[in-house]
Amino acid sequence: MSKRALIHIDYTNDFVAENGALTCGEPGREVETTIDNITKAFIKDGHDTFFTVDVHEEGDPYHPETKLFPPHNLRDSDGRKLYGCLEDTYQKYENEKHVHYMDKTRYSAFAGTDLELKLRERDIKELHLVGVCTDICVLHTAVDAYNKGFDLVVYQDAVASFNQPGHEWALDHFKQVLGAEVRKFGGNKDGIYG
Ligand code: ZN
Repeated sequence: MSKRALIHIDYTNDFVAENGALTCGEPGREVETTIDNITKAFIKDGHDTFFTVDVHEEGDPYHPETKLFPPHNLRDSDGRKLYGCLEDTYQKYENEKHVHYMDKTRYSAFAGTDLELKLRERDIKELHLVGVCTDICVLHTAVDAYNKGFDLVVYQDAVASFNQPGHEWALDHFKQVLGAEVRKFGGNKDGIYG
């Protein structure tokens, strides 16, 4: 069995909470417990777990998102904290050697970060994705992972979007175009999460 890692994407207050700056709304909050269960299962089993989290500087004239979206995930803001019980789970395990927190500034968790180096160093071949939004940051991370030759698993009950048709489209794209296994947490024959 190849070595795997969990990649958490942008599950923060600004993207999930009711008053978040760029919230994906109820669908985002509905996956909280599942994401938390997956996270705890990976961490307890000793799999590397990466929290990749968008960070922005307010009004940054050079950042392409400044023109596209309202300010979100500003450095040191509450909006950038992980949402709900995930913040507690992260704090509980943050000192574990296999738990990593990583700033990112673009949709893909690979863009401008050392995520790929960390994965290659550890000989990790299989990436399991959770977080938001399915059709933006999860999608762009999945496309990069595909191009770099990683195997992909996406948990359909642990990703969400403000855009339901976009969410459905992306799930299909993961399967049909990126060759990902799209599954529900606990919904595969090899055991609780494969
Ligand atoms: Zn952003």
